[in-house]
Parts: sequence; C-alpha cells; structure tokens
Amino acid sequence: MRPANHVFSGLGTTIFTVMSALAAEHGAINLGQGFPDDEGPDDVRAVAAKALIDGPNQYPPMPGLPALRQAVAAANKRFYGLDVDWQKQVLVTSGATEALNDCLMALLNPGDEAILIEPAYDSYKPVIEAVGAKIVTVALEPPHWTLPLDRLAAAFTSKTKLILLNTPMNPTGKVFTRAELDAIAALLVKHDAYAVCDEVYEHLVFSGHKHIPLMTLPGMAERCVRIGSAGKTFSLTGWKIGYITGPEHLMTPIMKAHQFVTFTTAPATQTAIAFGLGKDDSYFAGLAASLEAKRDILAAGLKDAGFDVLPTNGTYFISADFRPLGFNGTDEEFCRDITIKAKVAAIPLSAFYAPNAAHAPRHLARFCFCKQDAILAESSARLKAYAKK
Ligand code: PMP
Ligand code: GLN
Repeated sequence: MRPANHVFSGLGTTIFTVMSALAAEHGAINLGQGFPDDEGPDDVRAVAAKALIDGPNQYPPMPGLPALRQAVAAANKRFYGLDVDWQKQVLVTSGATEALNDCLMALLNPGDEAILIEPAYDSYKPVIEAVGAKIVTVALEPPHWTLPLDRLAAAFTSKTKLILLNTPMNPTGKVFTRAELDAIAALLVKHDAYAVCDEVYEHLVFSGHKHIPLMTLPGMAERCVRIGSAGKTFSLTGWKIGYITGPEHLMTPIMKAHQFVTFTTAPATQTAIAFGLGKDDSYFAGLAASLEAKRDILAAGLKDAGFDVLPTNGTYFISADFRPLGFNGTDEEFCRDITIKAKVAAIPLSAFYAPNAAHAPRHLARFCFCKQDAILAESSARLKAYAKK
C-alpha cells in the first residue's frame, strides 16, 4: 500500500490524550491535560441552552455570528484599546486549534521559515510541516524561561515568514514582557515578517503581570493576528469556540482557509460566548484571581512534597523539578510513575520540544491547577506520600 502523508503518519497520539488515558486506567487525579473541573458559568450555559432550543440551528454565517464578531471586536477595544472592524477583521473558529491551523495554512508557503519558541504547544509543529514550511526553533532558558534575544535575532532570515508567539505561555506560565515584545516587533519590521499570536490564556494572568498583545505595539496591527479561546476564558474547553482578530489583508486568506477547514461553528455556543464576552470586568478579574489562588495552593503543596517549583505568572499550569525527590529517570518516566504509584497525572515538559531534542529539559513535570481546592490538596498529599517512599 502507498504511504499516507508523511507528517501525520509519523506522529504519535498527543501527550494530553496519552496521559489522560493513563490517568483513567489507574484511577489517578488528572493534573495532566489542561481543563477545569467545573462546568463553566451558569449564565453563559443558560444562554446556550435557550439558543439551542429556540434556534436557528442551521449553518451560521461562514465568518461567525455577527453578535459574536461584534463582541470580539468590543472586547479588543475594552481590554486593549484596539479598534477592530468586526466585519473585516474578526473570524470565529472551532477552537483556537482551528484558528492556528487556518492562520498557518493561509500565511505559509512551502519553503518559508516559521520561528517557534520552545517549549512550544504541540499542535504548531505538524501543521507547519504539513504545509511544507521549515521550523526554526529558539529555546527559552529555564528556570526563568528567559528569551535569548541574540539567538532570536539570529533565527530570523530572509525566508522567515512568521513567528508563532504564545503569551501567556503553555507550559511555562511565562508572560512575555514589554521589552521582549519590543524586541520581537523590531525583528518583524526588519525582516518584513508576521506574528501568529496564540493568546488563549489572555485573561489568566496573575498579580504583578499584565498581558500585552503584540498587536498593540506601534506598527504591529498590520503584522499580527491574535487568537483567543472561549474554552479558556469561560472554562468551557469542550465547546471549541475560538476567534481570530487581524488586519484585513491577512484575515482575507485566513477566512479562505477557514471556509474549507470547518466552514462554520455551532451557533448556540456562539450566541452564548457573545453574551459571555459582554460580562462585567469583575467576571474576568474573578477568573484570574481564582486561578491565582489555585496556583498558590498547588505551588505550596508541591514545595511541601519536595519539588523545586518554577515560577508561573499565567495560564493553568505550573512546572516542577522532580530531581530533589531523588528520581533519576526522565520526565516521561516520572510522569508515568506518579500516575501509577501516586495516582496523580502530569505532563512531561519534553513533550513541548522536537522529539529527541538534545536541549529539551528532562527533569520537569507540568501540573494543571484549574481544579477544586480539595483536589489540589489531595494531589499534594499523594505526591508527598510518594516522595517519602
Ligand atoms: N494554544 C494553546 C497554547 C493551548 O494551550 C491550547 C489548549 N488547548 C490551544 C491553543 C487550543 O485551544 P482550543 O481548545 O480553543 O482549541
Ligand atoms: N491545551 C491543553 C493542554 O495543554 C490540552 C488540549 C488538548 O488536549 N488538545 O493541556
């Protein structure tokens, strides 16, 4: 038989699915795959339920329901002062995952170079490779996940079409600073390149830190597309509603990609997210405050269990160095071991690097803290008991 596509046939199952399955098999608490263990806001779900019954339930407009596109434009203005034309500059997608694919397919040609900052979310790489573009990586330096500006500058060439920038960043919890964003912006101008900005954790940023969309910097509105996710902003990861904001000259081809990837997204959930994006500032601040408190609970619990805990300033995730526990294997081995023996699942950080990358850290595990406080406490207790053995 003839081989299928070389990129996809060469891939394994994503680490999130692998670890969730292992957690289920062993009855472990799942602090691996990132999803909240509550049901999301009642009022947002009530709007969806009503819209599902009342209809319409046929194909919504290809770029998204006007109400949601207007709400995305209004949120851009409210949170970041961005002036966005909802008809030309906003697209609704089936999750940020589709949004990323649409952007990469629409912007890259075979032979172009795309810069990824490692550790990088696992869906970026295969899509870039599938369109025939070349990946150039720049690795952050743990434990503070410093961006090496000299190496970043060296990664840009005349073939660089875009950089993929994820801030706040999964898995590190890094929130890129204004100085780092200024440096990236200068490189984009110098090399006439674009940025695909994965900002799904835009509202999950903790005290002392601020999310700055690269798009808000001088000259960047024409070069950036920014991606949001209702999954993260409303704790409704199963709904798969994402949205892209960008300049018309980039949104036009991105909408063409979208029309043949999914064409459109379920209408009832779009109506509900349009309502959700209009909620008071207190909703968004409350979400961040609640997650910050959970971060603090898990950070303290992991420290108490003996881990060296890395700083995290946003997202659902915290990373911890397990070497002080006396575990000498790899991060994959560690995550399997705690899933089976401590009955707590986590994600090995090396999953966010190219396979066999020599520079990938092998001593860090990512734990997800968007869980009930009692679950976080129980996880820490189990890990402490495991560490003592
Ligand atoms: N980007 C990052 C960095 C993520 O962590 C996720 C989480 N799933 C996604 C994109 C995909 O978001 P969605 O669930 O909206 O497709
Ligand atoms: N983004 C989630 C995480 O990093 C997982 C999403 C998925 O399973 N595809 O854990």
